[in-house]
Amino acid sequence: MIIAIDGPAASGKGTIARRIAAHYGLPHLDTGLLYRATAAALIADDRNLYDEAAAVAAARGLGLSDFDDATLRTRQMGEAASVIAAMPGVRAALIDAQRAFASWPGGAVLDGRDIGTVVCPEADVKIFVTASAATRAQRRALELIRSGEKADYEAILADIIRRDARDSGRAAAPLRPADDAVQLDTTHLGIDAAFAEALSIVEAARIRA
Ligand code: C5P
Repeated sequence: MIIAIDGPAASGKGTIARRIAAHYGLPHLDTGLLYRATAAALIADDRNLYDEAAAVAAARGLGLSDFDDATLRTRQMGEAASVIAAMPGVRAALIDAQRAFASWPGGAVLDGRDIGTVVCPEADVKIFVTASAATRAQRRALELIRSGEKADYEAILADIIRRDARDSGRAAAPLRPADDAVQLDTTHLGIDAAFAEALSIVEAARIRA
């Protein structure tokens, strides 16, 4: 069973994907980390973020140690990742690894932006997770405050809106729901309720299969 979970930043897709994977005992891939690690490798090499040839080489050269980087989860790296993710060559360099992960015997859960549309159009279940930009910015701000950092809500909101526009507006694998995806709006849902909804979407698909 391949489960594709897509959606914009801070929609809750990552947490939902992790919990769905744990529930069914399936491996989970957060595909955003591939783009974040590519951007981090470029930055570490002092390369220009807009140099597509260098970005493609960084994506092709990723190794396990590139995922240890503590800065991968930062807002700045999310922003840098979305710049290199718009490059078709970078996306092409990362697709085989994602498809290999999805073909794990028994299935897998992948979350990202284009899993249901491009990486695994044959996925058994596709969920497109959304939430209003204001709610997503509040969630990010709360996460920062809880981890003892300062949170500038307006800057986070601006960041989310800019990243949504770049991810949805790009020509290569733009962020959009697959035609056969079920949409899950988490604006008014806590994480437990969002997980319960996602689980019932997966269960409904399992019954139909
Ligand atoms: O999900 P996350 O915030 O970690 O993703 C960082 C960036 O990587 C996204 O804003 C997007 O531009 C890119 N990405 C993508 N396709 C994916 C996963 C992430 O383009 N499947």
